[in-house]
Amino acid sequence: MGVWNTDRELIEREELDQIILERLQATLNRAINNVPFYHGLFARNGVVPEHVRSVRDLAKIPFTTRDHLVEHQPYGFFAVPLRDIARIHLSSGTTGRPVVVGYTPNDRVHWAECLSRILCAIGIDSSDIVQISFAYGMFSGGFGLDMGAEHMGATVIPVSVGDVEQQIRIMLDYHTTCLFSTPSYAMQIAHVMAKNDIQSQRLSLKRGLFGAEPWSEEVRYRIEEALGIAAYDIYGISELMGPGVAGECEHRCGLHIWEDHFLPEIVDPQTGATLEPGAEGELVVTTLTRESMPLIRYRTGDITSLTYERCPCGRTHARLARIRNRKTDSIIVRGVNIYVRDVEELLKRMFELPVRYQLVVSRDEQGDNLEVLIEVNEQLFADELRSYQHRESTIRHELSGRLSFEPTVRFVEPSHFPPPGVKYPRVVDMRNNG
Ligand SMILES: [Zn+2]
Repeated sequence: MGVWNTDRELIEREELDQIILERLQATLNRAINNVPFYHGLFARNGVVPEHVRSVRDLAKIPFTTRDHLVEHQPYGFFAVPLRDIARIHLSSGTTGRPVVVGYTPNDRVHWAECLSRILCAIGIDSSDIVQISFAYGMFSGGFGLDMGAEHMGATVIPVSVGDVEQQIRIMLDYHTTCLFSTPSYAMQIAHVMAKNDIQSQRLSLKRGLFGAEPWSEEVRYRIEEALGIAAYDIYGISELMGPGVAGECEHRCGLHIWEDHFLPEIVDPQTGATLEPGAEGELVVTTLTRESMPLIRYRTGDITSLTYERCPCGRTHARLARIRNRKTDSIIVRGVNIYVRDVEELLKRMFELPVRYQLVVSRDEQGDNLEVLIEVNEQLFADELRSYQHRESTIRHELSGRLSFEPTVRFVEPSHFPPPGVKYPRVVDMRNNG
C-alpha cells in the first residue's frame, strides 16, 4: 500500500525529534504570547519556553483539561484573531458544555494532510468511492473526513447518518468501495443487510474506516465478516483537531500518531506522572502545528499505551494501542459524546437532591444501548407510583432530546449501589466484553 508523504512519514527518528522540538518551542511561544490562559499558567509555574530543551522538560508544565476549555468558552483559547479563523466545530455534538474548536486555513491544510496519510496507509486511492456515514454538522467527524478523502483524490459520497436502508441502497447503486462510520453504525448496516437478505458479495465494498467510539477486535472481526471488508481504526479528539490524529496502517498493529503535528505522552491517570513507553495510562497530547488553538499537555481521557518501535510498514511515527476505554468523565454512544456531569446535573435539577445513578453502555446487533440506572430513594418517591412513572418518562424524554436516541431509564434498589459514601463507577462500558 502507498505512503502519502514519504519524506515525513518515513523520516529518520533523529530528524523527526528535531522537528518536534522546534515545533514544540514555537507552540509554547505562540501560546504564551497569544493565549492569556497560558500566559498566566506559565508565569505562575515559572515556565520559560526556551528552557524546554527536550520532551522530558514538558513534565514541568501543568496539564490543560477540558474544564479549562469550558471555562474560557467560546474563544478564550484562540491564539489568532477571529478574522483568521476559517471554520468552527464543536467538540460535542448535542450534549451540554460544548467546546468551540477553530481552524485557520493552515490548520485545515494540516488536517487534510493527516487524514490523507491514514487513507493512503490503508490502501485508499483516487479510484475509490468513499461513503461517509459519520454525522455532518458541528461534530467534526463528517466534514473532516470529507475534506481528507477529497484532498487525497477519492470520490466522496457525503451520506451522513440516518436511514440505514438508504445507506445500503447507495452502497449498492453507486458501487461504494469504502465505508467510513462509527463501528456501531457499521454493525447496524450489517444487521439490516442480513434482515433484508442482502449478501455482502453484492456490494463493491473493499474496506472501512471506523472510529469515534471504542471498539474491540471481536467487533472488527464481526464487521469484516458481515460486510466482506478489511476494517481499520482511526482516532481523533475534536479539541485537538478531529479525526486523523492517529490511524492504523495496513499492518494494524497500533495507530500511528503523526508526531510532527501531535506530541503524545502517557501519564498515570491518578497521579499525572509521565509513564515509560509501553505502559498503559492516559494519553496527553501537545499540538505542534495548530495555529488557531494550541493545546499544551491536553488530557484526552483516553486510556492507551505508546510504542516507538519501528513498524513493519516503515513509518517512524509512534503507535498508540487501540483505545480500550475512556476515563469515566465522558463516553461516546452511537457517535454522541455524553458527559457524565451533564446527566448528573439533569438529575439534580429534576429531583432537587443529589441522586445516585449509573450509566451502563452495552452493545447488541442493533448497536449501542444506554441505560440510566437511578437509585430508588424514599425521599424522592414519597408520593405514589404516578410520580415514578412521570419521572422516568421525563428523564427519558429530556435525555433523548439531547442525545438524538432514546436511552432506557430504570429505577433500581439501593442494594445495586455500594453503601452511601463509597465510590462506585458512574459509567460501566460493557462494549468490549464480547
Ligand atoms: Zn505501520
